[in-house]
Amino acid sequence: MLKRPPITFWATVFVTVVCLSLVAIDAWRSWNARALQLLEVERAGANLARAIAQQADDTLRAADTSLADIVERIETDGRGAAALARLQRQMQAHVAELTQLNGLFVFDAEGDWLVHSRPPPHAYNNADREYFRFHRRDAGRRAHIGVPVQSRSSGKWVIPVSRRINRADGSFGGVALATIDIDYFKRFYESFDIGRRGAVALTTHSGTLLLRRPFNDATIGMDMRGTTLYQAYTGAGPSGSVLLASPLDGEVRLNSYRALAHYPLFVTAALSKDELLENWRRDTFLHSSGVVLLALLLGLFGKRLVQQIGLRAAAEAQLLGARDALEDMNRQLETLALQDGLTGLANRRQFDATLEREWSRARRGGGTLAFIMLDVDCFKQYNDCYGHSAGDACLRALSQAIRAQLPGRPGDLAARYGGEELCILLPATALEGALAVAERVRLAVERLQIVHRGSPAGFVTVSAGVAALAPYHGGGAPLQLVEAADAALYTAKLAGRNAVRAAAPAA
Ligand code: GH3
Ligand code: MG
Ligand code: MG
Repeated sequence: MLKRPPITFWATVFVTVVCLSLVAIDAWRSWNARALQLLEVERAGANLARAIAQQADDTLRAADTSLADIVERIETDGRGAAALARLQRQMQAHVAELTQLNGLFVFDAEGDWLVHSRPPPHAYNNADREYFRFHRRDAGRRAHIGVPVQSRSSGKWVIPVSRRINRADGSFGGVALATIDIDYFKRFYESFDIGRRGAVALTTHSGTLLLRRPFNDATIGMDMRGTTLYQAYTGAGPSGSVLLASPLDGEVRLNSYRALAHYPLFVTAALSKDELLENWRRDTFLHSSGVVLLALLLGLFGKRLVQQIGLRAAAEAQLLGARDALEDMNRQLETLALQDGLTGLANRRQFDATLEREWSRARRGGGTLAFIMLDVDCFKQYNDCYGHSAGDACLRALSQAIRAQLPGRPGDLAARYGGEELCILLPATALEGALAVAERVRLAVERLQIVHRGSPAGFVTVSAGVAALAPYHGGGAPLQLVEAADAALYTAKLAGRNAVRAAAPAA
């Protein structure tokens, strides 16, 4: 048979499951919070990239519109002094109007300054600049965004935006240039909260870094083609995001990139992963510490509880065992208290109680109660001849013979009345029946043939006095029945022993 696990086992399982669930639920919640936080950051990064791309596009477009205007004028109005003077006024008006513009310039085919929005301190030649060389060899008419340079006229870092000017025959006739103040971008980039370790960058499609926050002059014009970010951008399309370590400072950032709508540039807004998850980490640490502490306390408390339950269950089991043992002992004591130790018959106490009970019952039911008093003949001599222990053995043998002669009715009771006097109580039995029983007993004892040289018969015999009373009719007390049988016994003795006599009918 399968043994059922004890209550302490289930209590332990319960406490363990509760503790583990607590920790597991918290871990799951924390991991979800982290994923949500990263999602939020990705969204914020994408929005930031969109705003920066839009601003760069608008800034370049405004400068480029001025350039297109200048190129168109020079090509239609020619380079006469009056036309150039008019153009210069117009250029000055543009620069005054557009704050991002540092200056507007027109160079002739040799790179000499032709017209400019601001009078130069002295004559320069810009034929060595990258954008100049680009337009001289490239016949394209689109705007070119060059590598940032330090302005020769103002000393500031500027981003050159340029267009080619053609002569009437289509040959190279010079370059129109707008320079955009890098400070203009810096101020805009500084207006965003990107954390202490965030970064924002503007890069050309060809992989040249134009500008980056955190600002550092050394990074201007850097070649970014070898970086994972550049490869991710060129591989995956106009916008997206990628988590990677910066080649510049090693910081792991979530980089959101987006191409400008009208110019071959793209922006990246990068937010530091560590910084973004800092709050989450602190929250999670506090939260998890609390939960682990709680689980520990719960576990300890549960352990104590389980121990207590175990102790209680053990005590209960001991108590049940003790109760069972006590009940056994009580039953034994009860039997001992009602039995005669020598003969195994009912003892005097049981006889008295039974007589009382049967007497009452006979009175209620109107029945007869019969009683036989037996006494061993010349037993003193038996003891004298054979010793007391032989006497005891004889008494045991006689008791067995008496028990064997009882008709087997449940109410009949054979008892040791005292000493070598034995008796039989027969409820609902008339005198004749009782006499017959007494006679059977006497004969049975005779048949035992226990040698007794002190007896006239030569073996052990018994004498019996028999009485029967109907308490309903006769009234009186149970003692009367005993006394009547006793008197009958006396007459049996007088008659020479080994005899049965009935009591005289009650007067
Ligand atoms: P009587 O035929 O007149 O009855 O003669 P008796 O010797 O039997 O006389 P009585 O009944 O007065 O004697 C009782 C004797 O039975 C006294 C005692 O020695 C003996 N006796 C009583 N109880 C016990 C007992 O438990 N064991 C033994 N061995 N002897 C007992
Ligand atoms: Mg006697
Ligand atoms: Mg006797």
